Amino acid sequence: MSDRPDYHFNTRAVRAGQRRTAEGEHSEPIFTTSSYVFGSAAEAAARFSGEEPGNIYSRFTNPTVRTFEERLAALEGGERCVATASGMAAILATCLGLLKSGDHIVASRSIFGTTVVMFSQYLAKFGIETSFVDLTDPDAWAAAIRKNTVFLFLETPSNPLTEVADIARLAEIAHGRDCLLVVDNCLCTPALQQPLKLGADIVIHSATKFLDGQGRCMGGAVVGSENIVGKDIFGVVRTCGPTMSPFNAWTFLKGLETLAIRMQAHSANAQQLAEFLEANTAVKAVHFPGLRSHPQYELAAAQQSAPGAVLSFELAGGKDEAWRFIDATELVSITANLGDTKTTITHPATTTHGRLTAEQKVEAGISDGLIRIAVGLEDINDLQADLQRGFDAIVKP
Ligand SMILES: *Cc1c(COP(=O)(O)O)cnc(C)c1O
Repeated sequence: MSDRPDYHFNTRAVRAGQRRTAEGEHSEPIFTTSSYVFGSAAEAAARFSGEEPGNIYSRFTNPTVRTFEERLAALEGGERCVATASGMAAILATCLGLLKSGDHIVASRSIFGTTVVMFSQYLAKFGIETSFVDLTDPDAWAAAIRKNTVFLFLETPSNPLTEVADIARLAEIAHGRDCLLVVDNCLCTPALQQPLKLGADIVIHSATKFLDGQGRCMGGAVVGSENIVGKDIFGVVRTCGPTMSPFNAWTFLKGLETLAIRMQAHSANAQQLAEFLEANTAVKAVHFPGLRSHPQYELAAAQQSAPGAVLSFELAGGKDEAWRFIDATELVSITANLGDTKTTITHPATTTHGRLTAEQKVEAGISDGLIRIAVGLEDINDLQADLQRGFDAIVKP
């Protein structure tokens, strides 16, 4: 049995969801087939009507995708997982499955920029309104809930400022008002934080990030109860088609096998880099949940098993200094992606948050001197030496 409930996290990460075929393969196969053959007309009819379980068509039933789904569900502690073509497709499928015209969402102000655009431009076209609130202020969440609010949506820690939300507290607030709590668990992954165990109803993933972990494939997932994910979300993917490809599913399920050791290694590198940055006098502030100076250090330590791979820091000299720092690095990649073995560096004010007005940037805490690093798995000595090149480039003559 590959799915015993008493197996621990790392065993489930390696074994859950696998069903060997008659070939006796050790590693999971990739099923590249769009449809499946039935033994008889009666069997075809029974599969289509749902009387008999089994594969029909790979838009919604594929054995490789199912292995990934069962493995991720086992790691998040959810009854059911539905895989999608990307992280954004996971969020869209959740919205299509749960919302109708006239409904309302309360979302953290500090969520992925594209999610903000989806909510405030595209869902708005269908008469769905979103209120944005401060991630760390439970009273603001409670005050924003209306009669027609369906769910609360957040990411924790936030990116790039690494603010931490109290998931259990917000779940209580949501449930007290008959709402669901949806958590985008992309930055922590189930290796560091399991929102369903803290009371969240739905977990969203961009598998593109740490679940893959090596920057190869696009994918996403929704995890939760059989009732919500198995019916509402599965129905959307089956019907509307934002389906994960079998090859990508295979890449992700192999990624899950090393997830916990990777996330620990990412976090350890990030911790050392954050301490290195904090010790430099050119740095005004370092945002990282593993530092005692982080305003929610205690909450992060209780809620997460490690601080994660994303940190940001502020230079006093504004945009010019931040750009000079970034351009002096040689090893780290100047790119906005995260969740890769390769460390990445970005200037949020002119890239990921470049579309915000000056006022919105101040409100979001995105200063011109802010630099974000998504720490990879290179040797820490080489990473520190590379950031030292940045510091050397900004010393006043
Ligand atoms: C990247 C990302 C997404 C979107 O995922 P894609 O796979 O790029 O569609 C959603 N949420 C967070 C937190 C992300 O970092």
